[in-house]
Amino acid sequence: MPPEADPPENMLRLYNTLSRSEEPFEPSRGNTVRMYACGPTVYARAHIGNFRTFVCVDVLRRTLKHLCGYEMHEAINYTDVDDKTIAGAQNAGVSLRDYTDELIRLFRQDAEQLGIEAPEETPRATDEANLRAMGDMILALERNGHTYRRDGSTYFKIATLPQYGRLARLDPEGIRAGARVDNDEYSKDDARDFVLWKASKPDEPSWDVGAGPGRPGWHLECSAMALRLLGGPPIDIHAGGVDLIFPHHENEIAQSEGATKEPFARFWMHIEHLLVENEKMSKSLDNFYTLPAVLARGYRASALRYLLLSSHYRKQLNFTWAGMEQAEESLRRIGDFLARLETVSAGGTYPAAVEAIEKARSSFAGALTGDLNTAAGLAAIFDLVRDINAAIDAKAIGRVDADAARRAIDDFDCVLGVVTLRRAEDAQPPVPVEEIERLIEERRAARGRRDFAAADGIRNSLAERGILLEDNAGGTRWKRK
Ligand code: AMP
Ligand code: ZN
Repeated sequence: MPPEADPPENMLRLYNTLSRSEEPFEPSRGNTVRMYACGPTVYARAHIGNFRTFVCVDVLRRTLKHLCGYEMHEAINYTDVDDKTIAGAQNAGVSLRDYTDELIRLFRQDAEQLGIEAPEETPRATDEANLRAMGDMILALERNGHTYRRDGSTYFKIATLPQYGRLARLDPEGIRAGARVDNDEYSKDDARDFVLWKASKPDEPSWDVGAGPGRPGWHLECSAMALRLLGGPPIDIHAGGVDLIFPHHENEIAQSEGATKEPFARFWMHIEHLLVENEKMSKSLDNFYTLPAVLARGYRASALRYLLLSSHYRKQLNFTWAGMEQAEESLRRIGDFLARLETVSAGGTYPAAVEAIEKARSSFAGALTGDLNTAAGLAAIFDLVRDINAAIDAKAIGRVDADAARRAIDDFDCVLGVVTLRRAEDAQPPVPVEEIERLIEERRAARGRRDFAAADGIRNSLAERGILLEDNAGGTRWKRK
């Protein structure tokens, strides 16, 4: 018998919530991975807990691209209509579109600062083509006998789908205590049923795509956009935070499978929460930080990215300022190491150095393709730093080896994206130079008129933004914190 073909060297093993086990992953159609992650509800600025999920999804994306060699077709949506976005726009006295436009802009800005690659698709629920896809999905569900209407709204009847509850492993009674349940006030046949299309109240935005005037339910948005944009079913990977397993993802499966009679997604990836003092970071608990709040404490976005990806995505991560400090320190060590590599000038090459680099490459690839074990991947990098530093101390390293070590770190960083981000930050101070100079001048003028409160205010606000002022005989100089 011919021997079984070996899997490709860098085949990813990914934990699949559907089977509760790690499985080898390959795309189902050619070399392109079709992946969907539930994006932010744009009613407030995203917090760094949300960004833990998006940074981990980004690490998955980069691993699939750079270590496994696949092309990506990824979608992350914006939920730009729901009770909270509507209330936010009404409170601000602007249109829903204007309100969510601004929050989407801020999300993109934060995501870019955190080195998150832009996905190929970033659909908005209220884009016309998406609303039409939602209308079509409701029609298909109606045809297949999965819906009913009440008071102008359309519901999904869970009793019509025997496989309901497979992802969340629900007991037949359905609803787990404490899970995030639809808090709609509409009457339903069964408490487990969920709304597909909500009849609009008089002062609410409304669309008619075949199910009467109203707006889409949250679950419907994701099913319709994923299938419309990624050409399923089944799509390869569906991702999100663990809080979405039930009911959101269970309901996405019900809608997609009820409409298409095909499996919806092959792999379900769920990221554990970022905690603060052992509670989930969330808007409702008011225990959250945004990226600007972290930057205002003088930390860099690269350090936050490092922290968010430094522990395994299936473990909870407790956010602390000491953790931020350590992340800054770890990044500084890598930066110092790269600078030290530049000092190597000896010719030749040394087998021990070559071996250390090879070992680091294989440990890193093994760690990341082993269900994205980023912690082990970082350990491989710091082993390399220690081994090569020892080689430099012992003068047992040549220029060729130093270049190979630098290339290895660059390759690791294609996946982690922290060193590149730091370089970009170094090239650009957190406050534009012209603004710093203008503020120094304003502060000098304030001191001249003995308005020390104003002068101190300028100094403190710059310090919060990561710029320190130093006064000496020649005037005032600035430097990064
Ligand atoms: P939302 O805007 O609430 O729909 O959340 C956007 C994404 O962030 C979802 O995938 C959530 O599961 C995820 N998320 C929310 N809070 C946290 C947290 N504390 N840690 C990690 N992910 C979170
Ligand atoms: Zn979703």
